[in-house]
Amino acid sequence: MSTVTKNPANCDVFVAGGGLAGLTAALQLKQMRPKTSIAVVEKRSLPVPEVAFKVGESAAEIGSHYLKESIGFKRHMEEEQIRKFSLRIFSSAGANSDISRRPEIGLSRFSPLRTYQLDRGKLENALAEAASNLGVEVIDEHTVTALELGPDRHRVTVKRNGSTRDFSPRWIIDASGRAGLLRRRLGLGVDIDHDVNASWFRVGKRIVVDQWSDDPAWHARVPSGKRWMSTVQLVGEGYWLWVIPLPSEATSIGIVADPRFVPYERIRRYDALHEWLRENEPQLASELPESESGLLDFRKLKKYAYGTRRGLSPQRWALTGEAGLFLDPLYSTGLDFIAIANTLTTRLIAGALDEERDFKRRLKAYNAFYLGQFLGWEPAFRGQYEVFRDAQATAAKVIWDNAFYFMFPVLLFTKDCITDLDFLASIRRQIADTHPLSVHMQQRFREVSKLDVRSAGFPVASDRGVEDLFEISSQSMSKDDVRERIKWGVDKMSWLAHEFSERLFEPAGIEPSAPPCARPTDSASVGFVTWVPYSQRTTSPAETQPQPADSWMIR
Ligand SMILES: Cc1cc2nc3c(=O)[nH]c(=O)nc-3n(C[C@H](O)[C@H](O)[C@H](O)COP(=O)(O)OP(=O)(O)OC[C@H]3O[C@@H](n4cnc5c(N)ncnc54)[C@H](O)[C@@H]3O)c2cc1C
Repeated sequence: MSTVTKNPANCDVFVAGGGLAGLTAALQLKQMRPKTSIAVVEKRSLPVPEVAFKVGESAAEIGSHYLKESIGFKRHMEEEQIRKFSLRIFSSAGANSDISRRPEIGLSRFSPLRTYQLDRGKLENALAEAASNLGVEVIDEHTVTALELGPDRHRVTVKRNGSTRDFSPRWIIDASGRAGLLRRRLGLGVDIDHDVNASWFRVGKRIVVDQWSDDPAWHARVPSGKRWMSTVQLVGEGYWLWVIPLPSEATSIGIVADPRFVPYERIRRYDALHEWLRENEPQLASELPESESGLLDFRKLKKYAYGTRRGLSPQRWALTGEAGLFLDPLYSTGLDFIAIANTLTTRLIAGALDEERDFKRRLKAYNAFYLGQFLGWEPAFRGQYEVFRDAQATAAKVIWDNAFYFMFPVLLFTKDCITDLDFLASIRRQIADTHPLSVHMQQRFREVSKLDVRSAGFPVASDRGVEDLFEISSQSMSKDDVRERIKWGVDKMSWLAHEFSERLFEPAGIEPSAPPCARPTDSASVGFVTWVPYSQRTTSPAETQPQPADSWMIR
């Protein structure tokens, strides 16, 4: 696609890999500091194919905000991609042959915070073009073959058809995805005890889950009739499946599974996976072709999670996207990690090139934040897929995880707090204190998933609770307001921890170990969750109370 218009060999910044992370990093830095000379080297040929390209097609709140506001891709997102109807989880019920009988966690109306379903090829082509137009050298069909770190300038070798070129940049951003050029070269990789596998594929038709039932009471719960625009997740013991609509009328489908419950052998080839789907997810199976020849593609990945010991270095390199780390796709936060890594990296590099005096302090704080988001999320995923065996435990976990996400990462990112050194220092202790609470609660969710606690009912985020979360990221706030909100968030999470522990364990006559926090007495914390009768989520919708018309969540 792009040709070299001038010699970029002595560029300020060399970006290895022109995928989502590399292209957005280049664009963000160029927009922040236009005089920076940047080369992005990508081994594929541009433009890349659309529709069946890369996995990572659902953008969550941080990632969507990043593309719209930080990168300036609002128009592209609204016009070229699909608006997402949030996350929608269907727990297992019986033989999973009737979606209207499956406990559903999801919004009844669209969220005011606009998120998106992505055609990755379309997005990366538009990003490459925008970067080129801004003066970034986007060089395709070249492979990075060597990276040597130097005291003043680094040395990078790239190859194309046997011919070699050298670059000597001041900075390297490694955005080479799972190739992880620098992470491997410097031995930075960290093994994670999170053994989960995935396989995925695309079909060339729209899959409309709304058509899986003709029960009018089930349809009435989502008056727009657009459940299909959600990231639909079908979950059961040890697994979840995604169904994501793509802008091109195609659909992306994937399974993510803990091999203790769903062996890799059952998902690693399409014929085996289709057989597994017929047994466990018959409504989805009936929409799919019998053989792989009917698919647009089929991919798989064994034990996909890994970490890194460092993300940003005093030796003038940084890792972004999957070149650094990848934890789990459950809540579609891959792009969030890119947003955070790029925002830290580009601010650090811009300051360093301008010879700002606080480089060391900035580097230390940003590297800690980069690694901290990983540590913060880890308890939510590691070993947690077994929770999906039980719909009540799943409902509690999803409320907990989403409350946590909106109250801390979404708040900090959307209010431009993550690059502010003094601000980060002022909240470090509070955020760190939430970690033992998360670890504690994820353990409780696993325990509850093995108990019969039907009389406790289903937890559903209350309308007030949902509005509070939406409000966090839509209203403008000073840094002091954000600090107050964090304190409020810590109180809410503490309240929620006690509420779940007491309500969920009581019917089993078990005294759970107490959360490592006091129960707040502040009445503002109360009412974040409402409890609906077990039967309301497990019998036919026609036999249950209709939900209030203005309810945010499916009741
Ligand atoms: C099963 C699964 C589901 C996921 N679902 C979601 C989701 O719903 N939402 C979400 O946000 N994230 C999701 N993710 C994560 C998402 O896929 C990643 O965050 C994202 O694709 C990473 O982008 P990247 O730019 O780091 O890597 P890539 O997109 O892989 O880009 C790396 C680029 O580097 C190039 N490259 C590699 N080596 C070289 C070399 N030597 N020389 C030159 N170029 C090179 C490659 O060609 C490639 O274009 C999912 C991940 C998995 C595994």
